[in-house]
Amino acid sequence: MARLGNWIEPFPEGIYVKPADAWVDPSQPKERALVTHGHADHARGGHKAVWATPETLAIMDVRYGQQCANPVAYGETVRLGEVEIGFVPAGHVLGSAQIVLDYRGERVVVSGDYKRRPDPTCAPFVVVPCDIFITEATFGLPVFRHPDTGAEIDRLLHRLRHEEGRCVLVGAYALGKAQRVIAELRLRGHHEPIYYHGAMERLCRLYEDLGVPLGELRPVAGATKAELVGRVIICPPSALNDRWSRRLPDPVTAMASGWMRVRQRARQKNVELPLVISDHADWDELTQTIRDIAPKEVWITHGREDALMHWCMLHQVKARELNLVGYEDEEEE
Ligand SMILES: [Zn+2]
Ligand SMILES: [Zn+2]
Repeated sequence: MARLGNWIEPFPEGIYVKPADAWVDPSQPKERALVTHGHADHARGGHKAVWATPETLAIMDVRYGQQCANPVAYGETVRLGEVEIGFVPAGHVLGSAQIVLDYRGERVVVSGDYKRRPDPTCAPFVVVPCDIFITEATFGLPVFRHPDTGAEIDRLLHRLRHEEGRCVLVGAYALGKAQRVIAELRLRGHHEPIYYHGAMERLCRLYEDLGVPLGELRPVAGATKAELVGRVIICPPSALNDRWSRRLPDPVTAMASGWMRVRQRARQKNVELPLVISDHADWDELTQTIRDIAPKEVWITHGREDALMHWCMLHQVKARELNLVGYEDEEEE
């Protein structure tokens, strides 16, 4: 009998689906690309044709200009060659999808990046039973256990209320994290205007256009220092310590990232208020997902593979490292 999944070929630059002659999240320009989500390390410009959810395509349009696009909504399928291809929510950012590949009775699911906890800005992860589950492992170590998001947001709001004459400046990745932090603040009852760095504007507007309400947002540009006292301000992580932030009233520097669990990283970035808010599965979510799906094999694309490989071995799940390159650590997501 042929080896399971022998029609899927991992290359350093991406996963090649041979009978569809298409690549999943290729890091180099290809004829046919199936794209899981809009983050730059998964969605690149320059492909001849792209299949992705309408939301991911809209994000790619903003970042790379008009794509030769084939939208596939959640729940729909397309056929390329002999392969039936479906897109199912991954719970990572708006439009993010797991790609479900069916070929001659075998099913392979490529998760892209994913998380299991609720996110007010995107559809929740759907468990799809399959033969091979291809997973990320960004936070694939038992030390990574993300705390409750609402509790992290409450810590932010507590600081905001108790720091007289200051503002709270939150560094957050421009796609996904920024909008999620804003939406989570609204869920915790913060309905004041939230101010943003100019780099956030287009994606925030796109989220709203695509039906994710973010409440009243105002640009920092044009606001007086006095107006910004007592406000939450969102900026890209790179702006936290640069000259731009000097115009702000004595900011409490915060950062929203799964990496804030690592104190050293927070210190390196001069982060006064680390917020452990991640769009990636933590250790428990990774292992629970493998349990829920119960695939015959797990293939691991990127992140900290070793511990997850070991866990799979202990739990009698066949596992394999793919060693893909070009997927970032996603330091800032
Ligand atoms: Zn991502
Ligand atoms: Zn990624």
